[in-house]
Amino acid sequence: MTPLRFGIDFDGVIVDHRAHKLRLAGELGVALEPWQTNTNLLHAYMPDDAAYRKLQEPLYGHLTVQAPAIPGALEGLARLPGEAYVISARRPGNEVSALEWMAKNGLHDIIPRERVIFCESGRDKRAHCERLGISMFLDDKLSYLGHLPETLSRVLFDDDGIAHRLALPSDIRVATDWQAFLALAEAHAFRPA
Ligand SMILES: [Mg+2]
Repeated sequence: MTPLRFGIDFDGVIVDHRAHKLRLAGELGVALEPWQTNTNLLHAYMPDDAAYRKLQEPLYGHLTVQAPAIPGALEGLARLPGEAYVISARRPGNEVSALEWMAKNGLHDIIPRERVIFCESGRDKRAHCERLGISMFLDDKLSYLGHLPETLSRVLFDDDGIAHRLALPSDIRVATDWQAFLALAEAHAFRPA
């Protein structure tokens, strides 16, 4: 029997860029509350596109390797009731820093390298999910979940507690931490056929 397959985003779900976002925003003269760094909201709190890009670029480059793991992420990945695939929308130039982070933090002890997939855009995650038969996906970016088939169980990772500020489709579940996601994953795995 094929095991259940889970698709897991990387940035903001496994690796925590929050402290770097706060510092970089401060250097650009923008004082943010931690929740305002949330990937669904940050753009709205930056003065313009140029400032937003200036903040984003180093996060996915040299700063990635210095970022901590999201609390409970590595432990949670190891406890998922099925096979986990990391499916990350990172441009080719930003893959190296993600792989460095994974090596430094022992991610490949939990998820082998061949189950880490990079794609160019959030839209591309859909084809990988369909090809691999992913049945549950965890992402912190609502628009990326919106590109996935509705037949898939879609979970928004919301450790900033901002879901009430978003127009959330009714079938998208919310996990405010990894413990909550594990509970949803277990309910999904052991649901009646
Ligand atoms: Mg993300």
